[in-house]
Amino acid sequence: MHIAVLSRNPNLYSTRRLKEAGEKRGHTVDIIDTLHCYMDITQNRPTVRYNGEELPTYDAIIPRIGASITFYGTAVVRQFEMMGTFCVNESVAISRSRDKLRSLQLLSRKGVGLPRTGFASKPDKIKDLVKNVGGAPLVIKLLEGTQGIGVVLADTNKAAEAIIEAFMGLKANILVQEYIAEAGGADIRCFVVGDKVVAAMKRQGAEGEFRSNLHRGGSATIVKLSREERATAVNAAKVMGLGVCGVDILQAKSGPVVMEVNSSPGLEGIEQATELDVADLIFAHIETNAKPNNTRTRGK
Ligand code: ADP
Ligand code: GLU
Repeated sequence: MHIAVLSRNPNLYSTRRLKEAGEKRGHTVDIIDTLHCYMDITQNRPTVRYNGEELPTYDAIIPRIGASITFYGTAVVRQFEMMGTFCVNESVAISRSRDKLRSLQLLSRKGVGLPRTGFASKPDKIKDLVKNVGGAPLVIKLLEGTQGIGVVLADTNKAAEAIIEAFMGLKANILVQEYIAEAGGADIRCFVVGDKVVAAMKRQGAEGEFRSNLHRGGSATIVKLSREERATAVNAAKVMGLGVCGVDILQAKSGPVVMEVNSSPGLEGIEQATELDVADLIFAHIETNAKPNNTRTRGK
């Protein structure tokens, strides 16, 4: 098959591994810089141009759209959808995953386990907001945060109110979440491909740190999932409409709760922790599913 990886950087571990794994399975894999694609949407035959030429009709696209280019990146993916190309993750699903609030709302509607979560934009009802999610300790998150930046633990109601007030004063969008203390500073990254969790790792935060992000000094080890954890991750991916994603789960007393779903999950941490060839499994998924016009949304 002729497959394109949409990525800004051919030297990233994930991009390199995708090219290598695809070629090993006999495919031709092009790495296309998302921001260098341009589109002519005035003609009735959708195309994508790149370096002065029209791109071929690919059998499949693997979008690796960074959070900072979501707007343009999803427009490029949408254009490929218009051409009937199979996209491992579709534009609508990528946009959805980039909005934490929208994701949690959709997951909650489908009964996926979530930490008790509240949000607000006006500071007049802060006390009620804090009370409604069960009171301190609480986690307060910037909606635009990544890699654990803008995720704060408040030990008392007073501290929570002060932090919420401060964020609101900065006009930041936040959500307020029950603190899952029993997770012990660890979370589980479930790597989902199609309707299966193909690899999972437990990330443990550094000593004295409740955030388990590897970027914050956390460490990763392989983990065996319970049936319930597996089902939660697969269900979350399905609700989000993502073919390939990372579902981050906390082990709460009440069972697994989903923290977030990542539409461009990195391969380096998970392949190293599990010694599995996750990139190869993504191509196996493409081989089964990449048929022309096998797109659910067609950019809608
Ligand atoms: P980011 O998207 O910036 O990584 P997360 O929402 O994933 O932010 O939070 C970062 C880390 O903080 C998580 O990996 C987890 O270890 C911890 N954490 C986040 N929310 C909670 C919570 N409600 N209870 C306990 N720990 C949490
Ligand atoms: N229209 C979709 C629905 O109600 C929601 C899309 C979205 O927000 O991701 O199911």
